[in-house]
Amino acid sequence: MSDYTMTIDGKAEAAKGTFGVINPATEDVFARPPECTREQLDAAMESAQSAYKAWSKDEAKRRQTLLDIAAAIQARGQEIAPLLTQEQGKPVDKAMQEVFGAAIWFQYTSSLQIPIETIQDDATRRIEIRRRPLGVVAAITPWNFPLMLAVWKIAPALLAGNTVVIKPSPYTPLTTLKLGEILRSVVPPGVVNVVSGGNELGGWMTSHPIPRKISFTGSVATGKKVNVSAAPDLKRVTLELGGNDAAILLADIDVKATAQKVFWGAFENSGQICSAIKRVYVPEKLYGSVVEELAAIAKTVKVGNGLEAGVQLGPLNNKMQFDRVTELVDDARKHGARVVTGGKRIGPKGYFYEPTIVADISDGTRLVDEEQFGPALPVIPYRTVEDAVERANATHYGLSGSVWSADPEKAAEVARQLECGSAWVNQHLAIAPNLPFGGAKWSGIGVENGPWGLLGFTEIQVVNVAKA
Ligand code: NAD
Repeated sequence: MSDYTMTIDGKAEAAKGTFGVINPATEDVFARPPECTREQLDAAMESAQSAYKAWSKDEAKRRQTLLDIAAAIQARGQEIAPLLTQEQGKPVDKAMQEVFGAAIWFQYTSSLQIPIETIQDDATRRIEIRRRPLGVVAAITPWNFPLMLAVWKIAPALLAGNTVVIKPSPYTPLTTLKLGEILRSVVPPGVVNVVSGGNELGGWMTSHPIPRKISFTGSVATGKKVNVSAAPDLKRVTLELGGNDAAILLADIDVKATAQKVFWGAFENSGQICSAIKRVYVPEKLYGSVVEELAAIAKTVKVGNGLEAGVQLGPLNNKMQFDRVTELVDDARKHGARVVTGGKRIGPKGYFYEPTIVADISDGTRLVDEEQFGPALPVIPYRTVEDAVERANATHYGLSGSVWSADPEKAAEVARQLECGSAWVNQHLAIAPNLPFGGAKWSGIGVENGPWGLLGFTEIQVVNVAKA
């Protein structure tokens, strides 16, 4: 039960206190990782600070280390994936994709250049625009893609020359602790420290005097607290927060083919993706057939324990999230919406919820207006495309969105009007290591991934050399 340790200064670190991690498929506590104390957090921060000097100096070594980390993750993939399934709930083949995706992210990031721009170089003067690392990065992650979202922070932070203290969600700490354990033999002591604990530990990190940057992924409500907590020391922040992505279907779509893609854009990872489709706008004349098609797909999906073969969707990750989805669907029902399929829990144990399609619903209902983050999709009729765009934009969220049409250029015209960080055409969740990902409005500050994400772990330095 207690063979999980934190990684502080390159060494395994237990703690007096522990906390329980629940397998969402069984509701059993199956592991008890350490509850980091304030003194242990101080030790992790101090270790990261003392490792920074040497680490920030040798770019070639950092590049090679990222490749070594990728290889180490690949070598341990078979061991990490079932652990991810047990702590998070996702089917083991998807867990495997996350693990190997994490390795690919490290490989890709190792190839990025840290730009040096020479904007003048003549007899009188040389002016270089350089990028310096920031120092210690405090990274905080959520429970839906615990490993991948940790890597989105660790890989660019390290390449840029920073050192890291990372805290995973208390619901899914195990794969990140395991990553720390793997890294002990790959990175120098102090370069990556992994601590585990509850929300309070997150607060200690964001207000700690050592970090110069907070890289946070989680909910809007917590993101706002993080921003406030980081402000007194003028720490840099990147916030990747929640979304309420709209998919707008245009009148010329192939209903069957589009419904299939829209369904998986909404239900992948049991809907627990920041940039999953969370509401679908459908032209009135196609409304009945789209609702029917989505419901037909929902009925075929195999939901179950992610360790079992053939399971397509696992449980919700935790009781709070399960209760939230239940509450939002019940609220929609109470306000006259039609639950076409699904709408209740599956079985007596585990946080399993039926893939749910809700029709005859509109904006102003909580299931449409709020982020459900679960397997329940509201389908909303619209009259004009202008109206659909206006409703899609009438929210504080602005993470991503998509427009679907037989004519991709026509759809792109509409997609450009969406107030969000990623506007997709005839696809959703098109996330890749070389593309910036981030939110508009309350969905975040800054971006992750690609050269743009890397620059977020640096600050500009102008070196201006007067020669004569
Ligand atoms: P959450 O905000 O509850 O928790 C996220 C992390 O913050 C956890 O590690 C938690 O322990 C920590 N935390 C909690 N309170 C804190 C505080 N006061 N100070 C510092 N840290 C604190 O989010 P969650 O429920 O774990 O994740 C779901 C949310 O994350 C959804 O809203 C989802 O959309 C969002 N998300 C966004 C992205 C993105 O890239 N934009 C990706 C995945 C998830």
